[in-house]
Amino acid sequence: MNNPKQTMSRRRALKWFGAGVGAVALAGAGGAYLYRNNMRLPTKQADVIQKARIVIAGGSIGGLTVGARILRGVPDANVTVIEPRTVHHYQPGYTLVGAGVYRKEQVLFEQADLFQPGMRWIKDSVAAFEPDRNRVITAGGQAVEYDFLVVALGVEADFNSIEGLKVALETPYAGNVYDLNLSAKYRTLAKEFKGGKALFTFPEGYVKCGGAPQKITWLSEDLWRRDGKRDRVEVHFHTPQTSLFPVVPRINDVITPMIENRGIHNHYRNALRAIDPSTRTAIFEDLDATGSSREIRQSYDLLHAMPRFRTPTPLREGPLTAEGIGGQLQLDRHTLQHLRYPNIFGVGDCGATGAAKTAATIRKQAPVIVENLFSLALGEPMSAHYDGASGCPLLTRYGRCMMFEFDYKGELVNEWLYQSTKETRRWWTFKVHGLKRLYRHVMIPGWV
Ligand SMILES: Cc1cc2nc3c(=O)[nH]c(=O)nc-3n(C[C@H](O)[C@H](O)[C@H](O)COP(=O)(O)OP(=O)(O)OC[C@H]3O[C@@H](n4cnc5c(N)ncnc54)[C@H](O)[C@@H]3O)c2cc1C
Repeated sequence: MNNPKQTMSRRRALKWFGAGVGAVALAGAGGAYLYRNNMRLPTKQADVIQKARIVIAGGSIGGLTVGARILRGVPDANVTVIEPRTVHHYQPGYTLVGAGVYRKEQVLFEQADLFQPGMRWIKDSVAAFEPDRNRVITAGGQAVEYDFLVVALGVEADFNSIEGLKVALETPYAGNVYDLNLSAKYRTLAKEFKGGKALFTFPEGYVKCGGAPQKITWLSEDLWRRDGKRDRVEVHFHTPQTSLFPVVPRINDVITPMIENRGIHNHYRNALRAIDPSTRTAIFEDLDATGSSREIRQSYDLLHAMPRFRTPTPLREGPLTAEGIGGQLQLDRHTLQHLRYPNIFGVGDCGATGAAKTAATIRKQAPVIVENLFSLALGEPMSAHYDGASGCPLLTRYGRCMMFEFDYKGELVNEWLYQSTKETRRWWTFKVHGLKRLYRHVMIPGWV
């Protein structure tokens, strides 16, 4: 018999080991920046930066990481963050709420605790950008002037973008991990599911964390297997894409047979068009078919349907976007500087860079933005270059995760470090116990 105390301490040790290994690996991967830029700027240069009014629109992981990193370089810098929320959501934890690994409270932080000393907080929303006058107007009517602006507004799930989706989500047959309450609801529905057809979808357009719709599909399938219900459940995943994980072909090649062997039915080139909650039917368009065969109707007993995403109104409808980029911030994808307004930079999900919309992306973008912003302020050429680096902890089943980093070309980065194409317990442990710490205690204070 196991001594419970011993079992506990082994579990704890594993947890810390996982977190430690992960932290070393990720610090290694991000280390180039840490060691290259010895953070604190020499006094003469710092004096110049101090005079600049730096405004950050949006105070989530993108805005806070950039702001904190600026203050690490120049502790007296004039940094103002405009952010309306008083509670911060650790969104990468939402999938784990849906999977029953985290409770809702475990993904919430007091926003006030996340501001670094020296950061000024305007508790309001940006209502309009006025880049020709170097100012933003808040919803409360305040004009906030800047010398440099960093836009970090993120993207939002638009639950009205699919006909019937909002109503379907109010029924006891549908949930969604892109909203904290709906994610908790999904957990209950999945756990209590008696059997039938479970339908999962992937959206068109840009997606916040393109791995999450797959992760919740695969974790749910594993849950039903563990609970002895698998033979009573049909699992279907519909995606408008041509494969399961097209952004990284090597990962796609490994996971596709792995997932198909688990009896999950993948339907490619299927775009969700509408849901009829009264008959529990999802209506897809087959993007490759012609005529009447284009419409596919699938009934469901449990639904995890994805909305489309959009940027917040002042960005989507304002002067900082451009035609054909879905309301995203128009940016140079390498310098992260606005293409028309040189004193504006963008970080995170809201930027039209083509990079994955993840917190892991921000970890790699923030040092580039700060270095380029400092160079610009000092009248020097900008030399920092973002190569599209991002990362993904792909939760393939309970206790297993594939961890990998990739770049704009869709190629794996630091593969030797991550053992990227393997499902491991170590990376699961790191996802569950390490990443939130990295986010809260390394990224938000600006250490990366
Ligand atoms: C289900 C799910 C799973 C995920 N899994 C992972 C994962 O495993 N790994 C990973 O790295 N990432 C993951 N992510 C993605 C990650 O959470 C996002 O990429 C990250 O939060 C983006 O940060 P951001 O600062 O760009 O935007 P956000 O975090 O969305 O923040 C935008 C901020 O702007 C503020 N804002 C909006 N409008 C205005 C306005 N008008 N004025 C002022 N402020 C405004 C908002 O209040 C918010 O605080 C996941 C996300 C979800 C939803």
